[in-house]
Amino acid sequence: MTKKSDGALPAGDAQPVALVHGQAASSPPHKPSTRLLAHVDASATPIARTTRNWPVLPSLLVLLPILAIFTWTSVYLHYQLPTPGHALFSPDGQPIFSESHAMKYIKDLASYGDGTPRYRILGTREMVETDDYILDAVRGIRDDVVQRHPDGGMQLEVWHQSGDGSHLFDFMEKAVWKKYFGVTNVIVRLSDGTPASKANAVLVNAHTDSTLPSPGAADDLFGVAVMLEAMRVMGMGDRRLTNSVIFLFNGAEESLQDASHLFITQHPLKDTVKAVINIEACGTDGKEIVFQATSPEMIRALAKTPSPYATVIASEIFQTGLILSDTDFRQFVEYGNLTGLDMALVQNSYRYHTTLDTVDAIESGALQHTGENLIPLLEYLTSPETTMGNSEQSTPILPHAPTSHTIFFSALGGKVFVVYSRATATLVYGIIAALAAVVATDRVDWARYKKAYVLGTGGVLGGLVSAVVGANSVAFLTSVVLRKPMSWFSNEAYPLFLFGPPALLGVVLWQYVFASNRIRSPIATLAQDRAESALLEHASLVGLVVFNSGFTLVGHALGVGSSYLYAIGSVSGLAALLLNDYVLHTKNKGLHLATYVVGQSLPLLIGIEGIIGFLDLFVPLTGRLGAEAPVDFIIATLVGAVGYLTVPMLSPLCHRWGASFTARLAVFLLLVSAFGVGWFTRPSWSPYDAAHPKRLLVLHMENTTTTPSTFNLHVASVDGTPFSDLVETATAGLRAAGSVPEPTIADDLSVDWDIVYPVSQFLTTYRINLPPVSPDYVAPWTDSLKVSVQRSVLNSIKQTRRIELTLEHPGIIWPVMSFTADVVAWDLPKVPERGDVRHHVKSVASYGVTRFPLALTVQLTPEQFAAAQREDQRAKGQRADSSAEDRALASLRIDYSGLDIHGMYPASFQSDDAVEDARRQLARGTKPGMRFFEEFSQRLVDEPVDAMLLSAVAGVAYV
Ligand SMILES: [Zn+2]
Repeated sequence: MTKKSDGALPAGDAQPVALVHGQAASSPPHKPSTRLLAHVDASATPIARTTRNWPVLPSLLVLLPILAIFTWTSVYLHYQLPTPGHALFSPDGQPIFSESHAMKYIKDLASYGDGTPRYRILGTREMVETDDYILDAVRGIRDDVVQRHPDGGMQLEVWHQSGDGSHLFDFMEKAVWKKYFGVTNVIVRLSDGTPASKANAVLVNAHTDSTLPSPGAADDLFGVAVMLEAMRVMGMGDRRLTNSVIFLFNGAEESLQDASHLFITQHPLKDTVKAVINIEACGTDGKEIVFQATSPEMIRALAKTPSPYATVIASEIFQTGLILSDTDFRQFVEYGNLTGLDMALVQNSYRYHTTLDTVDAIESGALQHTGENLIPLLEYLTSPETTMGNSEQSTPILPHAPTSHTIFFSALGGKVFVVYSRATATLVYGIIAALAAVVATDRVDWARYKKAYVLGTGGVLGGLVSAVVGANSVAFLTSVVLRKPMSWFSNEAYPLFLFGPPALLGVVLWQYVFASNRIRSPIATLAQDRAESALLEHASLVGLVVFNSGFTLVGHALGVGSSYLYAIGSVSGLAALLLNDYVLHTKNKGLHLATYVVGQSLPLLIGIEGIIGFLDLFVPLTGRLGAEAPVDFIIATLVGAVGYLTVPMLSPLCHRWGASFTARLAVFLLLVSAFGVGWFTRPSWSPYDAAHPKRLLVLHMENTTTTPSTFNLHVASVDGTPFSDLVETATAGLRAAGSVPEPTIADDLSVDWDIVYPVSQFLTTYRINLPPVSPDYVAPWTDSLKVSVQRSVLNSIKQTRRIELTLEHPGIIWPVMSFTADVVAWDLPKVPERGDVRHHVKSVASYGVTRFPLALTVQLTPEQFAAAQREDQRAKGQRADSSAEDRALASLRIDYSGLDIHGMYPASFQSDDAVEDARRQLARGTKPGMRFFEEFSQRLVDEPVDAMLLSAVAGVAYV
């Protein structure tokens, strides 16, 4: 026996029973090596009592219920919503937010009297009616306000803005050039009537339009309703408004944020706006969450609300540009240089932009929550307290804050909101790190047990990587090997069941292979085994504290506000360690059971909410990320990484009952993982169901370049699961004789999907030839939908051609013109990229506006210019010949397409206006697209899909 193993035998009553661990089990017993045992010197860490920890089962019986309570609390508070209010006034006569009252606005605008959905697509009559409705509602509130404040101490002013403009919309590295004509805003200013109050305003924005194929009850009538109700509450209240509030009901967001652009670039009130609050919805349930808070003052304002739901992590994710902020907030930041809050309703985002976004789908209490938070925000920002506007300490414009300068996060469903400055963070993080260093030095004999404690510290990162690797292995197995991608899609929590166990398995295997096997003796006595377990258990906790403290400091030094997560990790680890070593004095026996409770308290209370919050947002989002996005790996990584942070005490737990326990735990997790894989890949399992559908975009396309028109169907999916079988069965019998669905690639040049460009960039699509129409079919577009040239001027010095053209598009909305040319100048805001570039110029317009003018100057090659000159002479009658070659060389090919205003299924079914209703009924019975969809939609009734069914028209012009 070596000296070390001699010493390892304690004086207690334990019999020296040899144990065989891990890989040593299969090798012949040999003498314990000095090298291995040098780490565990039981004589130096005498085991005082031989009754060590409780066995596994009693321990778990005590531990699991307590941890379950933390988890339940976190989940409960995350989803808890206030009780919907019904009364308009409190018993003492003060106006209060009423969800019932606000909900009526949504009902009126999102559905017809008979309850069928009312689509508010820009360019349709519904948008005119929507503006009228909002104007009426606002006038009603204004009358009440005037009655309540006969002295004029509260003033409501109303504008109905309508205007034209153009802007560049960068999206997914593609440039979309936008023109808009006659888009509208309803703008209401609430002030105390004085010029001082009106000089500074906080802007609140929501959009009234909806996108295809969605009635948009939540997106964004939710915001509209909250604004109207907040306007009533504030207007009827008695608080004096030091600053004013501008409510912007914008009528064109879904068309790529045109109306917010119109307001912030053209409206006279724009210069009085000092901050913006944008209210959006990409879900129907839960609390509205703050995606971006971009100035310290707005974060302070958030702190005044009863349950803010915000974290600097979201703001930092947006700053990386990994996730696009596709809200009006972008326009206000880009063109108004404003800071503010970008908030949205996000839970149950499966319904976002689908036919399922209906009035009934909005969760009870969600409006109340947003309203009860918005009003205190506005009250603070219109009070003398704020640094915005007229307060004594006012700043001319709220400064942008790098997120690292103000760290903020909410917890427990917004019951807790923590805000601190970078300076405070430096101090607090420094103290935590110093304390961690002191404890780690005091409680650890680094010289003797260096290896175990270094492994414990490095093991934190190793565990994180292992968790991510474990989860991703299952993602690879299910999505690639077993070809069942997105099997977890239909419930936000399913990824926890599929990827959680293998992530935990990764952590356990890491501890087993890299920690346990390096420290433990291949053969040990029972006492040695206990001592080794104690050492590993303790080292894992100390490692957690050291790693988290260090990581917090490094992250903080790099300016990452999200480092607070690691600060929380080190605080809870430190608290557990202090309890264990200084209060319970259990270090030599490893960790006390109570240490686990303390060590897991904050990670569960905060982490569980974090992970479900992430999954609420990202799982439904994967259904619209395109075919190329590696969504299984994204979700697996999220579960592995965030999940690991929520169970930091798993690593010490792995060592609590010896290596054989670790091995058994690994086997158990392996079995659970295997069961999960089996469950989620079984043949009858589908990633989709009726409430969590697959999204399809379907275009019934009429090509007017042939006579008679030819018709094609284009079917696209915005996620990565295969759908060729679905296309095949849904179009069987409806296709042209002998044709099969043909997979196509939607790229810059594929004109078919120009209507949804640049979203078309990530579609998987099929093209289906439809049977020819009867020879006597007369396309209603032949004479009306056309490109005409108003002016064409050649510049012989620069060899350029200036063309002023117009696309006339009666009956067509959202037209787009695309062409390849070397454009030198045009009537759009910026000079485009030079060279032969494919350009997409889109137009949207209010109801009845059907002209889309475009002026551009293109650079011609010498050959093109010569041909253009000859064509010019022919046009002027100076040449008698004609040349097809010249015409081809000199002209510019323009591909144009747009949506049939009466061909949107089912958006074009009915109207409140009798004349319009008659037109729609006629169109429904006669339009080839509508008749096709009548049949086609029947094929989809039992399929878990949500289809956008649009009739489109396309043509080509040479100008
Ligand atoms: Zn929206």
